[in-house]
Amino acid sequence: MISETDLLAKVPTKLLIGGEWVPSTSGRAIEVHDPSTGLVIATIADASPEDGLEALAAASDAQKSWASTAPRKRGEILRGAFDLLQERADEFALLMTLEMGKPLAEARGEVTYGGEFLRWFSEEAVRISGRYGVNPEGTGRMIVTQLPVGPSYLITPWNFPLAMATRKISPALAAGCTAVVKPAELTPLTTLYFAQLLMDAGLPAGVLNVITTSTSGEVSEPIIADPRLRKLSFTGSTPVGRTLLKQASENVLRTSMELGGNAPFIVFEDADLDAAVDGAMLAKFRNIGQACTAANRFIVHESVADAFAARLVARVESLKVGRGTEDGVAIGPLINDKAVDKAAALVDDAVARGAVLETGGSRIEGSGSFYRPTVLSGVTAGSDILREEIFGPVVTIVPFTDEADAVAKANDTEYGLVSYVFTRDLARGQRLIETLETGMMGLNVGVVSNAAAPFGGMKQSGVGREGGLEGIHEYLETKYVLTPDPFA
Ligand code: NAP
Repeated sequence: MISETDLLAKVPTKLLIGGEWVPSTSGRAIEVHDPSTGLVIATIADASPEDGLEALAAASDAQKSWASTAPRKRGEILRGAFDLLQERADEFALLMTLEMGKPLAEARGEVTYGGEFLRWFSEEAVRISGRYGVNPEGTGRMIVTQLPVGPSYLITPWNFPLAMATRKISPALAAGCTAVVKPAELTPLTTLYFAQLLMDAGLPAGVLNVITTSTSGEVSEPIIADPRLRKLSFTGSTPVGRTLLKQASENVLRTSMELGGNAPFIVFEDADLDAAVDGAMLAKFRNIGQACTAANRFIVHESVADAFAARLVARVESLKVGRGTEDGVAIGPLINDKAVDKAAALVDDAVARGAVLETGGSRIEGSGSFYRPTVLSGVTAGSDILREEIFGPVVTIVPFTDEADAVAKANDTEYGLVSYVFTRDLARGQRLIETLETGMMGLNVGVVSNAAAPFGGMKQSGVGREGGLEGIHEYLETKYVLTPDPFA
């Protein structure tokens, strides 16, 4: 295994524009921290708005030749990147643990998950298809074809530094779009290292450009306003998504928005409780609770709520907390102290409103941003924690009386990303597929993400889908052509 110092020395620290690693014109730098220690692990370029427009210019210049590159060739470059990622899997996993804090085993899982988007879209690049047919009147021929949308701006969050990048980059490149990628300021290193991997896999200069910045708004606005940009794809919080949608409306840009969540996790009285607890541990504690898909509200039938809480508390108390590189650690740090403050405030508010603190409920003093895995039962309506994304290792249990009550509670949110349901009743499961207002659902499972599936939300959780057969269409325009009857 490579040492942390040797790995960090290999990661590019400049901006990738037109196939070259270039310094920022701002002359400023961003310090990247290890959230488990608070120490600086890298110093990288801090792009100015001018750098952002240079990156867009490079993407725009490369668009024509990339769009006309054979789909098979585009697919082979993505497949080559997938193979290289397997070779460098340990390095990418360690890098994510260092900049984001997740336990190494989970970081390895993200390399697998993130890599699957490269493989999936390497296979989809050659399946972009159209239609040809006689019009209903019989007077002409109708042709429907799919063309790349064009230069795309891809903005990613800090919580899944690799997978959120590959989930956008892979379909964009497969479709024949060039791109500018802007990772989060908190975790830019994985994207920089991944961009180098894509170049090593043979990606031509300018097809993918990377900017890192501490002034996201100032740098992004001119890019979004520029007529050369044709597509904006964003993953992040709903408030920032709203701002970007407004900006994108000026040029009527194509947009994909993967936004926040407030996932309900419903346990019915007939559920296999062991399976429900296993599912709950995954749905809640993966990524230290910092996932848009994290179960935010455990809605449990009143007859099993105590038993569910007791089993969960036993499991939660056995979780080892520490730096993600240490053996056996299941819970790393939160991304920063602000995130710890937020989790603490939400827990304190819930307790003040009558929730019972079953375990945890406090920050861990010392270096790093750690919060104890926590279980709250009997959380009362009106508590902030039921409305906001917790983004931390906190379980909230709310009892319900019957199916209608469970569905009403689950849907009582402006979000609609994912829901989880545990029941042995098939008909009930089928009813909930139709009554729960979420874009995805786990029926007796605690994780749904898969590169082959359309990931995305309803309501204020977003617009569009990433992955699956749907994912590449976010980067394709449909063109319809009518020609006269060639026999007339
Ligand atoms: P965030 O604060 O919304 O930031 C997301 C990205 O947007 C970052 O790269 C950020 O850059 C950038 N950004 C912030 N303000 C911007 C602006 N005015 N103009 C352009 N870019 C801007 O979200 P986050 O805290 O990184 O991520 C957590 C959120 O993402 C949660 O709400 C979570 O649910 C959501 N999420 C959703 C999905 C999904 O698929 N639905 C997946 C993962 C995460 P800087 O950080 O550099 O400012």
